[in-house]
Amino acid sequence: MQYLKFHEWELSRLGLGTMRLPEKDGRIDYDRTAEMIDYALKHGINYFDTAYRYHNGESESVVGEILNRYPRDTWHLVDKFPGHMLSKEADGRLAFHGFPGRTDYFDSAADLFEIQIKKCGVDYFDIYFLHNVNDTSVEFYADDSIGVVEYLFEQKKLGRIKHLGFSSHGSPETIDKFLTKYEGVFDEVQIQINYLDWTLQDAETKYEVITRHGIPVVSMESIRGGALARLPEGAAKILKDAEPDRTQASWALRWLIALPNIGVVLSGMSSLEQLKENIELFDEYNPLDEEEIRIVESAVAALQERIPCTACRYCTEGCPMGLNIPQLIEYYNQLKAGGSLWDIMGGMNQIEKDKWPAACIECGACRSICPQGINVPQVLKDFAAQL
Ligand code: SF4
Ligand code: SF4
Repeated sequence: MQYLKFHEWELSRLGLGTMRLPEKDGRIDYDRTAEMIDYALKHGINYFDTAYRYHNGESESVVGEILNRYPRDTWHLVDKFPGHMLSKEADGRLAFHGFPGRTDYFDSAADLFEIQIKKCGVDYFDIYFLHNVNDTSVEFYADDSIGVVEYLFEQKKLGRIKHLGFSSHGSPETIDKFLTKYEGVFDEVQIQINYLDWTLQDAETKYEVITRHGIPVVSMESIRGGALARLPEGAAKILKDAEPDRTQASWALRWLIALPNIGVVLSGMSSLEQLKENIELFDEYNPLDEEEIRIVESAVAALQERIPCTACRYCTEGCPMGLNIPQLIEYYNQLKAGGSLWDIMGGMNQIEKDKWPAACIECGACRSICPQGINVPQVLKDFAAQL
């Protein structure tokens, strides 16, 4: 495993993201997750990333419980404050809208933070992020009457947070303004960055802004929820022809570490096999060279046709028709990438007819929440037309 210096620590270059852990009967599969975390620790990973909302609140407690089997100084836990899904009510309470079918209320940021500390079974968080400071949530985070940043900075002084940071799907301007307002407060910024989003989501400008503020960038969606490991035929062929023995995931991860200000590379992993493959890639420091970067750029050109859904599922909870939006988009992408209707019908026939794309009532709820800016109702309309 490669390591990088981060303040007083040596962090593993590869971080284990816990938003897509293996599941059984709709809950986290505890045994398989424990097997993954055990393997990760034994093979040098010491950076684990969770969040209040992951797996409907289960990720924090499961990950915390498993990590706590090991000495506290052998792992670093990152957790996140879910301000992007909180609103301030008229009575001053904070309402959390991130779990399906219910709203939870908190008296203050402190209440929520204490719950997280308890769920994770820790006395302190190694790194604590504001979750998704974006163009909408930035107002909540910067609202002095709520005082989230001030409260967390206080916790840092008390040693309950060792380092503060934030994740963001926001614009470069929002990131810049926020970093300027809170200059010197944050030690890490996590953004969605990979070779496709470099241009698609302007990760390049975000990366430059954060670098200008002298802060390391943590990459999330490093292989785009697995999409960069399952490329459509055209892009896959370009990489395969160039280096037949390399996996697609290795191209994505080696592209990232070629950027000088990339710190930890996060990957949300769902199986032991994925974990093993990723760990192998980080055994040696092997960033892409200039020629390989050009090859990736050719693959990106072939990929631009694809609808860039990362299967984050932010959209599904609010869909009044109960559509499995990322799954439908995946089938549509297969169709767009040259697959035939025949190819996708096996999967489509497993879906109830009233959950097919034509059931979309174009309410737009998914569109406003999608961090990838996908016009979901239009995509489903196009897909329905083809079906
Ligand atoms: S626009 Fe369609 S897919 Fe999106 S939330 Fe509304 S009904 Fe669901
Ligand atoms: S459509 Fe957008 S919000 Fe929904 S799963 Fe895909 S990327 Fe996530």
